[in-house]
Amino acid sequence: MIRALLFAHVWCVAGLVFAADPVKPPMRLYTLDCGRIDFEDEHVFSDTGDHDGEKGVMPVPCFLIKHGDNWVLWDAGLGDEIAKAQTGEIKVGLHFRVPVTLESQLADLGLKPDDVKYVGLSHLHADHSGNAALFPKATFLVSSTELAWADALPTPDGVLPDRVAAVKRASIRPVAGDLDVFGDGTVQMISTPGHTPGHHSLVLRLEKTGNIILTGDVAHFQENYDRGLVPLGNYSRAETLAAIGRVRGLAEHFHARVVIQHASDVFESMPKTPAYLE
Ligand SMILES: [Zn+2]
Repeated sequence: MIRALLFAHVWCVAGLVFAADPVKPPMRLYTLDCGRIDFEDEHVFSDTGDHDGEKGVMPVPCFLIKHGDNWVLWDAGLGDEIAKAQTGEIKVGLHFRVPVTLESQLADLGLKPDDVKYVGLSHLHADHSGNAALFPKATFLVSSTELAWADALPTPDGVLPDRVAAVKRASIRPVAGDLDVFGDGTVQMISTPGHTPGHHSLVLRLEKTGNIILTGDVAHFQENYDRGLVPLGNYSRAETLAAIGRVRGLAEHFHARVVIQHASDVFESMPKTPAYLE
């Protein structure tokens, strides 16, 4: 009987646990607006010329996950200090704008930054780590490989040393490979290197919505994900394609919705706070 129950309730593929724990806590997924990046020419997003001459505005979401009484932030946006400059700021050679601060969006939900227990980072580029300093009491979930890469000199393109320093001042739970954050299969970081050496995606198992994969920068556009297009500056072309393949495989096997974080139509399709997925 016990054996039958175990087989009925646990699937384990490639280290990922999709356990139907009868006491798993209620979950919510909020999508927050953490800024915009303006591009005069998006040619950098394909090393085969597919985006040459395209102009665009890229959304930068942050995701807030409620797991029982715990709050997890996935990716930390551009940085609230940029909101003070009405026309935005040039950072790492890109035009960043922050129309609404992350802190104010947390306040709208009745939260302070110190209420966030974990800050998970897909990677340490400036547009995913911008608000690291807002969370000195949180524990950061970040790849040890990523941290070593971002902290090395010369500073890699796209990385801002003050963001990395803010992560290092806080508690860090270093992630090697995959990590089942709460041990119940509901929030899992999966290793998807290629864009950067320690890049991760986040798999969520929501009661009503089903499985969701927040893909960081595995791909920046739906077209890049669908066609396997690789940006010019990625750390590894081969690993990027392998990461896309892993996400596709997981999405197919677990019937998961794939969220391309920087894709405008995907961002628009997500409910905005105070609405959430559950
Ligand atoms: Zn990136």
